[in-house]
Amino acid sequence: AQKRYASIRDLPAQTQCGKVISLTMNAGLMADLPSLPSSGAEGVGLFRTELQFLIRSQMPKRAELSALYTRVLDAANGQRVAFRTLDIGSDKVLSYMKPNDEPNPAMGWRAIRVGLEKPGVLRMQLQALIRAANGRPLTVMFPFVAQLEEYRMARAEFDKAMERERILGHPLPSSFEIGAMLETPSLAFAPDVFFQEVDFISIGGNDLKQFFFAADRENERVRRRYDTLNVSFLTFLEQLIARCNAHNTPASFCGEDAGRPIEAVVFAALGLRNLSMRPASIGPVKHLLRRLNLDEVKAVIDESRARGDQSVRSAVTEYLRKQV
Ligand code: PEP
Ligand code: MG
Repeated sequence: AQKRYASIRDLPAQTQCGKVISLTMNAGLMADLPSLPSSGAEGVGLFRTELQFLIRSQMPKRAELSALYTRVLDAANGQRVAFRTLDIGSDKVLSYMKPNDEPNPAMGWRAIRVGLEKPGVLRMQLQALIRAANGRPLTVMFPFVAQLEEYRMARAEFDKAMERERILGHPLPSSFEIGAMLETPSLAFAPDVFFQEVDFISIGGNDLKQFFFAADRENERVRRRYDTLNVSFLTFLEQLIARCNAHNTPASFCGEDAGRPIEAVVFAALGLRNLSMRPASIGPVKHLLRRLNLDEVKAVIDESRARGDQSVRSAVTEYLRKQV
């Protein structure tokens, strides 16, 4: 598949109406990194750090982690890598951590909730990331932030880690960006100051969708029941993007839907300018975006919405069929 799109690999995802969408890839293991140059991705928009924890039989040491992150940044060769701090709990359980027996783990003690209440691992991870950056730029994002205070507390952990490293005399990152993943609807309604304080947000559509529709992403019976292109979800996204734009907060979408061509086109038409996806999706998504006028797609979406359609999928699909 990547061969098929080789001719556009080094070209931007620039639409016929002149908008440039940055396409980045999702990764989690060293083995994913060779896809960075071959896919044409402009960096790693989501690096799921828990995968390197999940494949081990015991908790990694800080030095091992910093060696791993150094290799990731070396392989990225100056391109941006957004490291997502540990998202443990829910469907991802570490054999060497005490399991927490919860009735509803996806809504339970997971991700940044664990990181803030038992900060040992988060601190180790932040320190390892700062050391790995070793004078290079560093991008970190926190998973499953549901309210402003959680972002502030997590960011304070980063600030403390920086201060420790400074005192120890280690080189600090040349610049840094500290973002939040938006995976619960609540964060979209956070106070304005959240959008001012956060360096960027990354929409984790997999989790966001399951909480928006109250439909378990792991439950075969309900997970496909609600279309991502459902008008309610798109209206929610559109209002979120408007808030981000009002505060100049960069926003990206890194859930699996970003790699589906029709979804990607709709997200771009709603105003998202950064989409992160599995490497094999970059070619097809770029190919499609380069041939389209997003203002026209937006008009198709708006007409479908005005008609009262439940989902804009058929209207957009029909439009795309006529274009390509
Ligand atoms: C998401 O929820 O959309 C996401 C990117 O994170 P994960 O799939 O790892 O939960
Ligand atoms: Mg998630």
